[in-house]
Amino acid sequence: MKLLKPILFFVYLFPFITACGQGHNKAFTREDSLRGKITPEREWWDLKYYELRVKVSPPEKAIAGSTTVFYEVLKPYQTIQIDLQPPLQIEKVTQDGQELSFKKDGSNAYMISLKKAQVKGKNESIVVTYSGKPIVAKRPPWDGGFQWVKDKAGNDFVATSCQGLGSSAWWPCKDHMYDECDSMLISITVPKNLTDISNGRLRKTTENADGTKTFDWFVKNPINNYGVNVNIGNYVHFDEIFEGEKGKLTMDYYVLPENLEKAKEQFKQAGMMMKAFEHWFGPYPFYEDGYKLVEVPYLGMEHQSSVTYGNGYKNGYLGRDLSGTGWGLKWDFIIIHESGHEWFANNITYKDVADMWIHESFTNYSESLYTEYYFGKKAASEYVIGTRKGIRNDIPIIGSYDVNKSGSGDMYPKGGNMLHTIRQILNNDDKWRQILRGLNKTFYHQTVTTQQIEDYLSKNVGRDLNKVFDQYLRDVKIPVLEYSVEKNKISYRWNNCVEGFDMPVKVTVDAGKEEFIYPTTTWKTIKGKSELKADENFYITTKLVSK
Ligand SMILES: [Zn+2]
Repeated sequence: MKLLKPILFFVYLFPFITACGQGHNKAFTREDSLRGKITPEREWWDLKYYELRVKVSPPEKAIAGSTTVFYEVLKPYQTIQIDLQPPLQIEKVTQDGQELSFKKDGSNAYMISLKKAQVKGKNESIVVTYSGKPIVAKRPPWDGGFQWVKDKAGNDFVATSCQGLGSSAWWPCKDHMYDECDSMLISITVPKNLTDISNGRLRKTTENADGTKTFDWFVKNPINNYGVNVNIGNYVHFDEIFEGEKGKLTMDYYVLPENLEKAKEQFKQAGMMMKAFEHWFGPYPFYEDGYKLVEVPYLGMEHQSSVTYGNGYKNGYLGRDLSGTGWGLKWDFIIIHESGHEWFANNITYKDVADMWIHESFTNYSESLYTEYYFGKKAASEYVIGTRKGIRNDIPIIGSYDVNKSGSGDMYPKGGNMLHTIRQILNNDDKWRQILRGLNKTFYHQTVTTQQIEDYLSKNVGRDLNKVFDQYLRDVKIPVLEYSVEKNKISYRWNNCVEGFDMPVKVTVDAGKEEFIYPTTTWKTIKGKSELKADENFYITTKLVSK
């Protein structure tokens, strides 16, 4: 890690996306569709509630348990798709106590035949029992699954992560992002010397006769699949109350005993984060479930209401500044970035991972907004501009739909810079903040498409931004503002851009006052003698040409 150069650093940060990039031209299979599409066997039922019960056995690296899936029938259909990835296996499925038969389609999809007639509007449930040794995470959180390690004292330290891979890597579920349960029980049984921290609030703990202990966590809000997590360790706890926009918010911290003092210092940034992000994005979206920051053996992940942390109690990204400006060392990347996802990922969630920019571009930009809140606008601009060195412009940011395929890792720094550019077009900081808050209000606890977010931004910025989104999300070219000088006239136009690209840009002519110009792909002219200089906050390049 230490020797990685900045560009490799981003590769390390987002390797599963890099892997997608390498496989960009591969043909998709039925297996990909079963994973990524709203299949007929998914479409007919609306997920309401999950009861997940899992016993975790660290010595065997094995799990066993059940998911009870509660759903409403949207239209009559007699086959239900539930996903579970090998080596785990579904053992039994029942409805109303009656055992059901099932067939596997591909390696993950179980097509279960329902005996009882499924009547529109009725609420039903099935119980899915399963067991086995789940996929072991190779490089969590990017290459996820179960991670089994020991802490320094020799206690088991176990955690799950599964974005991209899918939550069916460790529990049976409807493994598609479009449909979230409204609430969820997560009941985890572990050896009694250990503690499980999952999402939401702890309802009860039960000591079992077999030397285990069960932790019942309850999530009162909709939660996406990959947000659900298990963290098992010899945790110690401290907490605080945050006085926020919706009243008192509990903030609970769980860390290994040897890190308690460091955590008490470093996690002061969690409250600072909450203050800055409520300012920019509106109230924390999960007051009912509280906010937790939980130490894990990997870098971190945006698990809803139990954000996981493994950044070594250091500022920056594992002690480094991804922007190269110094501002990234003023705060802890994992506390800020992963918590930013509570608004963009957990509150507003993509329906299809192809639209993952909705999570990562806004959250990347949240790093800059945090910087702005505490260090000012200039610092924030320097930060977001600094992150451009990580942009590769390899493949488009938007991935492939219906096959569980995200686009370029550029969704982080380039997406952040696209949002920063849109903010410059708007040229009204207060309104910009209202837009960010408005997004979180309008799409509160919803799953969305890129079109919904693009339309909202166009409407509220007061300008058709279609071409801007096409340029930065669906193309890899960076627009060039070309200009040429003749006597008292400067000609300018957009080049190296999508057809019809018409983004306004703030410039100075001959080092004079800042003004907006409205270039298109055909030449326009403005009075001037020597130079056209674009505001560097716009993610574009400028080039002097001879016509
Ligand atoms: Zn992220």
